[in-house]
Amino acid sequence: MEKKDIKHIVKTFYNALEEGKILGRKCTKCGHVEFPPYLACNICGNLDTEWHEMSGKAVAMQIMAPSFGFSDKSFRDRVGDYCVGSVKPEESGELVTCFIGVSPGRVDELRGKIPFPVRPIIIQEDGYKMVFWELDE
Ligand SMILES: [Zn+2]
Repeated sequence: MEKKDIKHIVKTFYNALEEGKILGRKCTKCGHVEFPPYLACNICGNLDTEWHEMSGKAVAMQIMAPSFGFSDKSFRDRVGDYCVGSVKPEESGELVTCFIGVSPGRVDELRGKIPFPVRPIIIQEDGYKMVFWELDE
């Protein structure tokens, strides 16, 4: 992959979200999937990757209440309750993200259930869509 491909990758990723599809990049050499899509395979360093539609199967690995110092009030106004933490999709590596629709009051209960199942949710932001996660219960 070359630098000129970066814009194409970003555009394809966001266009797919508009259609409700969540894409990662799969390494043609070792099969590892990078999500969000990344320029190269972080496992073997191969630069040749191809589009892969994510299965949506994932588990939460960490969860915590958003800290007041860093919490984004306008984000909460748009999406409601949320927590922060990390998710491990079945075919890619762990990533830091937000859990939408989860009250910070549930953090202790949910921590006892790690790794608990979550599913992706596509959220409309100002002019584009983003992928977050919600509880699969
Ligand atoms: Zn690889």
